[in-house]
Amino acid sequence: MTINQNILDMARAEAKQSDLKRAKISALALDKRMRNIICKAHNAIFMGSKKKFSIHAEEYLLSKLRKPIDDSMIIFIYRATAGGAGCSRPCNKCMKLLIISGIKNICYMDEDNNYTMERIAWNFTYCGFQLPLSIT
Ligand SMILES: [Zn+2]
Repeated sequence: MTINQNILDMARAEAKQSDLKRAKISALALDKRMRNIICKAHNAIFMGSKKKFSIHAEEYLLSKLRKPIDDSMIIFIYRATAGGAGCSRPCNKCMKLLIISGIKNICYMDEDNNYTMERIAWNFTYCGFQLPLSIT
C-alpha cells in the first residue's frame, strides 16, 4: 500500500527527534483515511529520579493521546534510517500494549519494505488478579 507523502514526511521528521542514536522511530495516530494526524510521538529517553530510561514511540504515543481510541484509528509506525524508511513492526511489548488499549489497526513497514496494514484486535478476557484500586 502507499502512504500519503505528507504523512511520511511528518513521520520522518518526528522520528528524527528521537534521542536514541541507533533506532529513530515515530508512532502517529491517524484517522481512518490516513490523512490527518491525531497525535504523534517518537522513542525517547527520560531521566528518572535515579537513572535514565527509554520508552518506545508507541508507549509514548499512548501516554500522549487525548482523543478517545475508536475502531477507525490507525497507528502508523515509522523507522527512519539513512536510506529512508526501515522495518517498523512494533515489538511484542508494544503490540500487547496497543491491543489492550483498544487499538484495532496498525500500519508499518514490513521485512520486505512494503507498508502493511495489520488488524490487531483480539477477543481477550482479563484473567489476572485484581489490581489494587488505591494504595494507602
Ligand atoms: Zn516497542
